Amino acid sequence: MTASIIDGKKISQHIRETIEERVTALKQSGITPGLAVVLVGNNQASKTYVSMKEKACKKHGIHSALIRLDEDITERGLLDKVAELNEDPAIHGILVQLPLPSHINETNVIESIDPSKDVDGFHPINAGRLMTGGDGFVPCTPYGIIEMLKFENIALSGAHAVIVGRSNIVGKPMGQLLLKENATVTYCHSKTKNLAFHTKQADILIAAVGIKELITNDHIKEGAVVIDVGMNRDDEGKLCGDVDFQGCRSKAHAITPVPGGVGPMTITMLLANTVQSAEKHVVDLNLS
Ligand code: NDP
Repeated sequence: MTASIIDGKKISQHIRETIEERVTALKQSGITPGLAVVLVGNNQASKTYVSMKEKACKKHGIHSALIRLDEDITERGLLDKVAELNEDPAIHGILVQLPLPSHINETNVIESIDPSKDVDGFHPINAGRLMTGGDGFVPCTPYGIIEMLKFENIALSGAHAVIVGRSNIVGKPMGQLLLKENATVTYCHSKTKNLAFHTKQADILIAAVGIKELITNDHIKEGAVVIDVGMNRDDEGKLCGDVDFQGCRSKAHAITPVPGGVGPMTITMLLANTVQSAEKHVVDLNLS
């Protein structure tokens, strides 16, 4: 068997077309969706992600405000900035690029964002809503993965999904979303014994670890769908995932590449969340 490749760029493009239509409709009712991205310090990877997010916003007619703050800004200073953005009517989404310098408590910052503008979906209110089935923002990476699986018509109800990784931004919300789709969910993590025993039972395997080629051909069952979230660098500095792509391709039914798989979906879902926030704003205005 040679797995089909799940093309994140293509699916992303498809979703972005609908986002553009929604942005046009919003503009017709006098609202330009706005995203504020707060970048603290000079982390090179963060700068790259932020510039990709800005570019995507511009391309699709979303107003983007980049707020650059010095590495040595105090936590109070950052919280004040977030408070200002919370009150800004031109801003519908606020994203504070992580990681933050070690003198700033990330939890305090995440919790200071107005949940109705928390387009990253990291605020405990949105995490709680995801868990309890309420309406809220879903973290962009797992949101993008669910959209990919649906786009590819992969059966989720009754499927056994195994997630390797249990972070608050990928693994945990991924499991909640799959549960919502009636999958049976298993979480694995660094303390899991005999990882391959678990991963081999997966109809859908999601690797969100950050270890190059942790998942090999021996970790998957014939016909599995393999989603690789990992973004690692190989010895030559080339981007690679958590999955041995070539090895697993001969056994899987479908597989995402790195790059070109989950990555493009993440930014697309950030745009979707920002537009969703602006749409909610219009509904609230009409109700008031
Ligand atoms: P974290 O470091 O927060 O979490 C990693 C998870 O992997 C933890 O739950 C950890 O377990 C688990 N883990 C570590 N080692 C092992 C092991 N040997 N076996 C099984 N599980 C293990 O990472 P993130 O969730 O933030 O990101 C994961 C990867 O996805 C990274 O490569 C990141 O760069 C990438 N990423 C990609 C995105 C995209 O858009 N494509 C977006 C976000 C992340 P424990 O909890 O026990 O420590």
